Amino acid sequence: MLNALSLLLVTTAFSVVMLLVLSSLAGSKVAGIREWGQANALAVIALLLFASRGVMPDVLSVEVANGMYIATIALMYAGFRRHVGQPVPEALLVGGGALTLLAVTVFHYGWNSLPLRTVAVSGYYAAICFAIAATLPIPAERRLRYPFAFTRIAASVVGAIHVSRALFYGYTAASAPLFLDPATYNLVFFGFGTMALPALTLGAVMMANAQVISETAYAADHDHLTGAPSRRAFFAAAEREHARAARRASGLGLLLMDVDHFKRINDTHGHAVGDLVLRDLVLHTQEVVRKIDYCARLGGEEFAVLLPDASLETAQHVAERVRAALDRSLQVAGATKPVAYTVSIGVAMLEEGENITGLMARADKALYAAKAGGRNRVVSAAPLDARGEEA
Ligand code: GH3
Ligand code: MG
Ligand code: MG
Repeated sequence: MLNALSLLLVTTAFSVVMLLVLSSLAGSKVAGIREWGQANALAVIALLLFASRGVMPDVLSVEVANGMYIATIALMYAGFRRHVGQPVPEALLVGGGALTLLAVTVFHYGWNSLPLRTVAVSGYYAAICFAIAATLPIPAERRLRYPFAFTRIAASVVGAIHVSRALFYGYTAASAPLFLDPATYNLVFFGFGTMALPALTLGAVMMANAQVISETAYAADHDHLTGAPSRRAFFAAAEREHARAARRASGLGLLLMDVDHFKRINDTHGHAVGDLVLRDLVLHTQEVVRKIDYCARLGGEEFAVLLPDASLETAQHVAERVRAALDRSLQVAGATKPVAYTVSIGVAMLEEGENITGLMARADKALYAAKAGGRNRVVSAAPLDARGEEA
C-alpha cells in the first residue's frame, strides 16, 4: 500500500542514490558539489527521522528532523550560489531557518498543530526554491543552458507546490489531517514535497556534469600556455572553413608562422622567457588579424592563422602586418636588456580541389623558403597549375 511512510523511504533511497552520483563528481572541483553532497547526506538522516514518527521520541521526528531538513534545503541553495560564483547569504539562511524551526517548536509544544507546522516549513522551502530559481542565470554557453533551465524550472515548480501546500494547510488548519494521513491530497502534497530534494539534486548533477564536459572541451581546444586554439581545434576549424570555402567559392588563406632562432632565445634568456615570447606573440597576432581570422598554436613555436574570405592580396597583407607587429622587443622583468624576436611566415591560398593537408604542405614550403631567404619575412606559396601539380 502506498502511504506517506513508503514515500519517505523511497525518497530516502533517492537521496542515497543522489549521494552516490554526487560522489562520482567529488574529484571534479566543481563549486557547489560539497554543499549538495552534505545536503543529501543530511537528508537521509532527516528523512529516516521523519519516518520514525511514533517509534522515536517526538522531539527527534519533529524538531530534529525538521531542523535537519531545513538545513538540507539551505545547503542546496548555498551549493547553487557557490556554483554560479555568488556569495552565500549565510545570516539570512540561518536566521530564516531558525525562525522556521522556532515556529515548528511553537506549533508542537505550544499549540500543537501539524497544519501550522507544515505552513511554516513549506513557506521556508518555497522561499529557498524561488531563491534558487532566481540565482541561476541563462548561461552564455549553449551546453550549460539545458541543465540550468531544468534546475530553474524544477526549483520554480517545487516552490509553487510548497506555496500551494502552505496555503492549503493554512486553510485547513482547523481540521487537522494527521501527519501520516493516507488521504489523497495529503499524500500528493507530501509526495511532491519530498521529491523537491531529488529534483534539485538531479539538476545540480546535470549542471556539474555539463561544467566538467565544458571544461574538458575547452582544455582540449586551447593551448594551455598561450590560450590560443589548439592544434586539434585548428584542424577542426580548417575542415569547417574548407567546406565553407568550397560551398561559397570564397578564398581561404593560410599563414604558417615560426619564431626565428627560438632555440637561441631559450638558450640565451631561459625557457621561461621563451614562454613569455610565445604568449606575447599570440597577444600581438590577435591584435592585428581580422576578427574572422583564426590564430592557433600548432605546436612548439609554430603557429597558423586561417583566413576565411580572403584573396591572395588580403592574405599577403595580413601576413605582412603580422610579421611587422611581431618584429618586437619584449621588456622582461629582471632582464638587463629587452628580448627581441621575429617570425617567418609562409602564405598559401586554397586551390580548387585541394585539401587542407595540401594547403598546409604548400604553406610549409613557403615558410621554409622564408627561413632560407634570411628569416623575418613573408613568402607566398606557388599556386598549383590546372593538373593539380605545382606550377
Ligand atoms: P628557426 O629560425 O629555423 O625556426 O630556428 P629555431 O631555433 O626557432 O628552431 P628549432 O626548431 O631548432 O627550435 C625550436 C625550439 O623551440 C626548440 C624547443 O626547445 C623550443 N620550444 C618548443 N616548445 C616550447 C615552449 O613551449 N616553450 C619554450 N620556451 N620553448 C619551446
Ligand atoms: Mg623556429
Ligand atoms: Mg619550428
